[in-house]
Amino acid sequence: MPIHSENIQHPQPSSQITSSSIPDVHQIPLVTPKPSTANVPTITAPKPATPDLSPEEREAIKQSMNLPDTLPIVNCLARARIPTTQGPEIFLHLYENNIDNKEHLAIVFGENIRSRSLFKQRKGETQQDRMTRGAYVGRLTPGRTIADRDEILNKELHFNEDGTLIIDEKTYSDPTLVRIHSECYTGETAWSARCDCGEQFDEAGRIMGGDGHGCIVYLRQEGRGIGLGEKLKAYNLQDLGADTVQANIMLRHPADARDFSLATAILLDLGLVEIKLLTNNREKIVAVEGKHRRVKVLERLPMIPLSWQQKENGIHSKEIEGYLSTKIERMGHLLEKPIKIN
Ligand SMILES: [Zn+2]
Repeated sequence: MPIHSENIQHPQPSSQITSSSIPDVHQIPLVTPKPSTANVPTITAPKPATPDLSPEEREAIKQSMNLPDTLPIVNCLARARIPTTQGPEIFLHLYENNIDNKEHLAIVFGENIRSRSLFKQRKGETQQDRMTRGAYVGRLTPGRTIADRDEILNKELHFNEDGTLIIDEKTYSDPTLVRIHSECYTGETAWSARCDCGEQFDEAGRIMGGDGHGCIVYLRQEGRGIGLGEKLKAYNLQDLGADTVQANIMLRHPADARDFSLATAILLDLGLVEIKLLTNNREKIVAVEGKHRRVKVLERLPMIPLSWQQKENGIHSKEIEGYLSTKIERMGHLLEKPIKIN
């Protein structure tokens, strides 16, 4: 898997936040967004790994998870090309579903990954309607009139009699890189150093951008599913001495209230049935595959915190150390704890 790494230089951190210093807003290292690809640090590419699960372990995890028998129904409402500050273009897919009223997303790297529900022909719609929804092939250019055919790139879509898109599976036969990401307002937007969500999100995007093919399923389940308000309360309990698991339990929430069946349904809609999953979380492997393993995780790629790879990069805080320790010791994540940072 080629990782895009040309012209990458190490950023010069303006300062390092230690547990004893009070962060100045100007000194908070920006995790998302980064200003340009020139500042993306070089890191060791994750080594391919097996899913790390024996059949017995998989079954034991499955038994403990109570996975739903049927998957949610998802429908892709719209898709649009997004040029990014990081370089690669992405196709953002917005989904509705039949189990909650949230707008979950798929961030797709690669024009050839297509949503079945988005591309299905709808009665009475025009080619203009299809282009507006994002159900087009190739690239939109001013004056283009046909959604199903790109004359410039010489690409054309074909449909069954019932209007279902015919997919040429050969266009992406390799297992596709996938990351399942749960929304984290604090980590992605408010520069929080309590967790590594923003960093992991950026890393997943960087790896997929380099590969040119991948999908981040972005689920709107803030705070491991408990919501932002409850997460803020949990942070206060953590400042009072609880770890992330204890804090959730004190608030009468499960340690992890997330549901990944929406991710499974979205991956199936995108035709991503054999995947390489970027995760350290064993339960996530089993959860994403679903009860009947309609999606198969063929490889697991670890997400190593940047601060463990290069001291100057990544998040440094007392809180992140506790957060990562809890993930490893209390939640069974597949990370080896490194020698203590700082
Ligand atoms: Zn987070």
